Amino acid sequence: MKTMVEQIKVLAEVQKDDKRIFDMKQKKTTFPAALKKVEAAFELEKQALEAAKANYTARQLELKNKELELKEREALIARLRAQQSQVKTNKEYTALQEELRSAGGEQSLLEEEILKLMDEVKKAEEKKVQEKTKLEAKQNELNQKKSEIEAESKKIEEEIKQLLNGRDEKLNDVEAELKNLYERLLPKRQGMPLSPLRGESCGVCHITLRAQTINDIQIGQQIITCEHCSRILYYDPPTE
Ligand SMILES: [Zn+2]
Repeated sequence: MKTMVEQIKVLAEVQKDDKRIFDMKQKKTTFPAALKKVEAAFELEKQALEAAKANYTARQLELKNKELELKEREALIARLRAQQSQVKTNKEYTALQEELRSAGGEQSLLEEEILKLMDEVKKAEEKKVQEKTKLEAKQNELNQKKSEIEAESKKIEEEIKQLLNGRDEKLNDVEAELKNLYERLLPKRQGMPLSPLRGESCGVCHITLRAQTINDIQIGQQIITCEHCSRILYYDPPTE
């Protein structure tokens, strides 16, 4: 069996990979939210296109109705004119003349409205085309994000697989108590269950350690944990 110091050395090696694995897993957890953001933008643009389409249809219908109204007015005017050519009295003629004036006024108003509506229909159509182009761009963005995330996830899975390869074998050299403690701390301490002694402090949480604790770490014959962050403390002499 290896000494405690040697076993911790093994764990320090394993921790390098474990930290990397932890960080990559963390990164992976951000992917769904990133995708959701792009999806939301796409959905928003989809709604904008639907609204533009609805507006275009509504303006078209309005135009059609006004055109019908105009036709009715034109028919009325034709009828009144025909009537006017057959009246016998001046009074009747004047009355029809009055009706014709009123119908004529309505006709020109309708013509104005129709011109305005034709312009609105044209603009609504342009807007619809614009939103369609924008939606296509958002669709592309979404597709790209999806494949990006897929590729990155795959890469991460691959690397994690590589890093896990041989990990258990290395840990065979570590006695059960120390190994179990390390594994327990691994997820709770962001992939870093070990902490080197730095001066008189824990190298990770920086709390000042008691003289006895420092002494025990340097002797390296038992498991010493930081009383603040509970990481396994070890002596890591600076390399000259
Ligand atoms: Zn600590």
